[in-house]
Order: sequence, then C-alpha cells, then structure tokens
Amino acid sequence: MTTRRDAVHNTLRKSEGFRSAQDVYAEMRLHGAKIGLTTVYRALQALADGGQVDVLRTDDGESVYRACASDTHHHHLVCRRCGRTVEVAGPAVERWAEMVGTEHGFTDITHTVEVFGTCSSCSTSIRTG
Ligand SMILES: [Zn+2]
Ligand SMILES: [Zn+2]
Ligand SMILES: [Zn+2]
Repeated sequence: MTTRRDAVHNTLRKSEGFRSAQDVYAEMRLHGAKIGLTTVYRALQALADGGQVDVLRTDDGESVYRACASDTHHHHLVCRRCGRTVEVAGPAVERWAEMVGTEHGFTDITHTVEVFGTCSSCSTSIRTG
C-alpha cells in the first residue's frame, strides 16, 4: 500500500529542482490524486524531518522541497545565493554527535546539520561582477 507520504515523495522525485508544496499539490491533483494541500504540507515536513527531502527557505519565506538523491542519513551544503545543494557525508559530525549525546546520558540521538555558504559559481560571478 502506498501511503500519502510515499505518493508525495514520488511526485517530488519526478520533479526537477526545488518545488513548493503548492507545486507538488497541483501536480498530484493534475494526476487525479485526492489529497489536500494541508496533507501535502505535512507529508513534506515529515519527509524533511526524516532527511528524505531537502528543504530550503526562499527569500520570501516560502519553503521549497527537493527529493534527496540518497535515502540514507546525510548533510547538505547549501548555497545562500542560488540555493544549489550538495549532499555531503560527515563522519566526524556523526562521531561527535554520538559522543556528546552519550556523555550526557542521552539515547536515541539524532541531529540535523546544514552548512551554508556561497558556491563556486556564485563567488565567481560576484568577483567578475
Ligand atoms: Zn539531501
Ligand atoms: Zn550559488
Ligand atoms: Zn549526520
């Protein structure tokens, strides 16, 4: 059985680049899915929390989503200017998070780490004006 979350995830996988919840909703309705906008929002949020989709906040405060290339735990390098996202592994971060959690007696340790910066093509365009 396909859950609504899976359906939202699949729609996002078929899309190129970042899409807003409204985009995903419109796409699903177009293909006959009986789903509400609120459900799409919630599914996207849950997928983002689970690390299965990348989420970015645009300058006007809207969240946009993209299916992650990898289903396993990873981190993102995000360009502040163009929103380009690179998926990166952070073995040192994984060890550090486990270590500080354990030190303080925490179990079920999870973490979210996003690294922001200016990508090489953006810094080139800044330099060349
Ligand atoms: Zn990702
Ligand atoms: Zn950039
Ligand atoms: Zn991590």
